[in-house]
Amino acid sequence: MLISEIFHSPQGEGKWIGVPSIFIRTSGCNLRCWFCDTPYTSWNPEGEKMSVDAIMEHIEQYDCEHVVVTGGEPMISHEIESLTLRLHTAGKVITIETAGTILADVHADLMSISPKLSNSIPVKDPDWAHRHDARRDQPTVIHELIKRHPYQIKFVVDRREDVSEIEDYLIRYPEINREQVYLMPQGTTAEMLAERMPWIEEVAKQLGCQVTRRMHIELWGNVRGK
Ligand code: SF4
Repeated sequence: MLISEIFHSPQGEGKWIGVPSIFIRTSGCNLRCWFCDTPYTSWNPEGEKMSVDAIMEHIEQYDCEHVVVTGGEPMISHEIESLTLRLHTAGKVITIETAGTILADVHADLMSISPKLSNSIPVKDPDWAHRHDARRDQPTVIHELIKRHPYQIKFVVDRREDVSEIEDYLIRYPEINREQVYLMPQGTTAEMLAERMPWIEEVAKQLGCQVTRRMHIELWGNVRGK
């Protein structure tokens, strides 16, 4: 599979924020969010082809139980099933970070789903805007992922107009436990996050959801390998 980077860092968002983790970042994505903070895995996918054996050997250097398989979109890789099986067999606690548009028969202790709202459409690129919008919401996949795995839902909130779309989403998926839903600010700097966070906290309270910081951006900014 095409691997962009493998590194060790605290988880920066969501339920397991702060937990030391090995990140396996796959390259390639079926979407093109305009705000993508890893364009080297989506707009310009790059990386090294690694076998599952090579990945397992590489992560042995870290004495760490938690593994985050992220992207890009890790679920598009044909080897995601064998990778997560090997990780599971090795006793790792696996988080998969996905936009929730593709199903695969994977092992996951936490399916971390970040559904892409209309605020993600790359309007300046009409060709990708159309493809992105057609792919970003896949109800069958969301229903199945939630049924099959422990999960969290993370919404990237950019504008106040996003709130009604999130409300509609939660109504469309009544099986989603709102205590497992996190709102997090869009932003690539600590200042951008801080500016949005106060009103996002208010909205989260009204919806019965949680907020999550984006600790890696607060600490290091939007840099690779963190
Ligand atoms: S789904 Fe994730 S990796 Fe893909 S373009 Fe959007 S933010 Fe980037």
